[in-house]
Amino acid sequence: MPGMGELDGRLLREHRTLECMTRIYCAHHHADPSGAALCADCAKLMQYARRRLEKCPYGAAKPTCARCPIHCYKPVQRETMRGVMRYAGPRMTWRHPWRALVHVFDKLRAARHPRELRAIRVARTGK
Ligand SMILES: [Zn+2]
Repeated sequence: MPGMGELDGRLLREHRTLECMTRIYCAHHHADPSGAALCADCAKLMQYARRRLEKCPYGAAKPTCARCPIHCYKPVQRETMRGVMRYAGPRMTWRHPWRALVHVFDKLRAARHPRELRAIRVARTGK
């Protein structure tokens, strides 16, 4: 798929999950009931979400967004995405880490387990 080159591993999976949820939400709330195309607002939201993942400082090695201490969304997009997740998450019948994604939007600060901190340090520095 063109333009998908920079995302891989977990980042790509998270992006696909977000895209899927946004499609469900958009199809039920906005223009296209088939869910084939996103409306302009939802397309913009997906572009924003993709940029956030591309700029994720942890890269593909990051644990999960739910465990991430960085809340990289601006408040408006964060609220919008949270609404999308709350609606679409329970409507996804297939296995997806949507619960983990929903989780991060509900938390202002992640409580880190020392083991996680160590894992992140190792992923970053190799030490
Ligand atoms: Zn829409």
